[in-house]
Amino acid sequence: MTNRYNIPPESAHSVLAELKHEFLTTGESLALTEELTDILERVQARDFMQRNTLPNFRMQQVMSAVEVTDTQCPELHRIFQNALKNLEDLFGPELPPHVRKTTLWRKLDANANATSLAFQGADPVIIITDSLLRLVSDASGKYIVPELTAVLMHELGHVVYADCECLFCMKIYTTLLRDGTIGGELCALTQAQAANKLFTGLEFTADRVMFKTSEWPSILNVFAKLAGGYGGETIDGELFFKQLEKLDPNAEAVITTGIMMANPHQPILERLKELKNFRENHTLGNT
Ligand SMILES: [Zn+2]
Repeated sequence: MTNRYNIPPESAHSVLAELKHEFLTTGESLALTEELTDILERVQARDFMQRNTLPNFRMQQVMSAVEVTDTQCPELHRIFQNALKNLEDLFGPELPPHVRKTTLWRKLDANANATSLAFQGADPVIIITDSLLRLVSDASGKYIVPELTAVLMHELGHVVYADCECLFCMKIYTTLLRDGTIGGELCALTQAQAANKLFTGLEFTADRVMFKTSEWPSILNVFAKLAGGYGGETIDGELFFKQLEKLDPNAEAVITTGIMMANPHQPILERLKELKNFRENHTLGNT
């Protein structure tokens, strides 16, 4: 079909449709971002996004957060520096240079969550909420280093692949689709499914960075706490994993039926199933 900018509706959609549900390589992730930004460029939305949307969003996040430095929360800073080092060991010279400039910020928030913002023209930031920090601390308030590291490695995975820019491109792209500016033929459900596929790919990719640099029992503990919370009593990740395995294997159908635009994080069952599969079929360092 033709539209104001003469952009075929298939173009970015075809990239999304081909996206492997299981894994997104660096190349695929960057190709998708490129494809989406190219379309946004043609509708003059890219400049706006890079000059306004992304920096403003970054500012909104850090203006109500505390930067973690060697004098402000030095223990957390030290653990974060070690996480960055893990990443350098994993990627070697392939590690994109912007990643080394990542800073960590902490924020008061009732949601146990962490956000990574990485895009051209600004140093990446990771914002972690105190609720999430409490989940990976013991009853006396001391960090459980392997669990905290696992969380940080997942977020650093998002920084490596500049997922934030990709997600914003996707959001603007689907908005433009919805209002008919570009290729208005795609129905809302297709857009949501494509977006869901992208979110899933990005999450699984970040989980794999975590998997390759963290201890499996600690990963299970983090997921168990994300599911059930933590009040100082022992939470056993292995037991939680066994509980998940007893669930209906067709749970995937339940998961993919929902439109999950609101929450980019996939259900824990889905993420653990994917990691388990990856763990059984791959050796470390071999994707
Ligand atoms: Zn994530």
